[in-house]
Amino acid sequence: MKKNYQIAVFPGDGIGIEVIREALKVLCVISESSGTSFDLTHGLIGGAAYDTFGTPFPGESLELALGSDAVLLGAVGGPKWEGLDYSVRPERALLGLREKLGLFANLRPVRVFEELVAASPLKPEVVRGIDIMIIRELTGDLYFGKPRGVRVEKGQRIGVNTLVYTEKEIHRIAIVAFKTAMQREKRVVSVDKANVLESTQLWRDVVTEVSRDFPEVDLRHMYVDNCAMQLIGNPAQFDVIVTTNLFGDILSDEAAMITGSIGMLPSASLGAKGGMYEPIHGSAPDIAGQDVANPLATILSVAMMLRYSCAMEKEASRIEAAVQEVLRAGFRTKDIHQEGTTLVGTAAMGDEVVKRCL
Ligand code: NAD
Repeated sequence: MKKNYQIAVFPGDGIGIEVIREALKVLCVISESSGTSFDLTHGLIGGAAYDTFGTPFPGESLELALGSDAVLLGAVGGPKWEGLDYSVRPERALLGLREKLGLFANLRPVRVFEELVAASPLKPEVVRGIDIMIIRELTGDLYFGKPRGVRVEKGQRIGVNTLVYTEKEIHRIAIVAFKTAMQREKRVVSVDKANVLESTQLWRDVVTEVSRDFPEVDLRHMYVDNCAMQLIGNPAQFDVIVTTNLFGDILSDEAAMITGSIGMLPSASLGAKGGMYEPIHGSAPDIAGQDVANPLATILSVAMMLRYSCAMEKEASRIEAAVQEVLRAGFRTKDIHQEGTTLVGTAAMGDEVVKRCL
């Protein structure tokens, strides 16, 4: 096992700066206890980078990301930059990172902690024990297919986007799904719209072909409209869900809501050249700088980084257990606060996790 990792740290904008600070405190104690060192290099991205360099994704940030074992990111964006042209909006930096690092698989664990069952908008008996891994393909589909754009024909505007998937793209994401399932309950649901869209019939065919190399994994196919219903009606049936870029974008946000707070959910984006780890939430300008943001999603993103980019499963599990212990001890940031629990700020929440990682 390597004893030294290069980590690019991009706090970004808004609460990104606050939650990354807490995540790094946790990484620091893990470093001390495991004897593994992490060389942390901070870079600018998003609005902060635009203010300094006139671009949300400067060349030096790209170089930093490419030269690192993993990227840890806070969040980007905010009202200050909303009037900018799309080409220099802070959010463009995320697309740039995904593209340049070849990040094709987005992993979003959706886990309902027992202590937060009451925070879900669904009934406790429906959400109790939920532990789903949503795997979204990240580089294909309508987001990148060509032709695209709006043109005028015979006096009316026509909007076009193209849903394209190559066999190779489907194959590699299916492998990620089956390998992930092998580490879990060995069940995969592949989500498509094969009854209407030919490109997703290909998706279904290729996923089925890949499944033959993973005979222990139970594969089911589900249409996306049914999956949207099942996630609300019976989410406990899912272990791993693998799906296309567009369907994954929507279903993963739907699944996130089941947990009750966006401040709890980490993510990993994986590719051939490394991984990027970030909370799923944005820069939350409404609460930035007030020490109220929930840092747990970012702390859990560090756990994913240790698991997927540093082969440090034991330490990843330790962080996850520490988060659960903090919740069990009754500490809550404002977004998950309920009567009878102890309200703490961002920094104090980070300290509570640190104490339990020692
Ligand atoms: P958001 O996720 O920033 O906030 C949505 C709501 O959730 C807000 O009420 C916010 O206060 C709350 N929230 C978010 N994270 C929280 C946390 N950790 N703890 C407690 N509460 C939290 O989404 P938005 O308001 O739609 O977007 C704000 C900005 O973030 C926009 O500029 C948007 O483009 C950007 N954004 C960035 C990313 C990213 O960097 N990956 C993702 C989504 C949105």
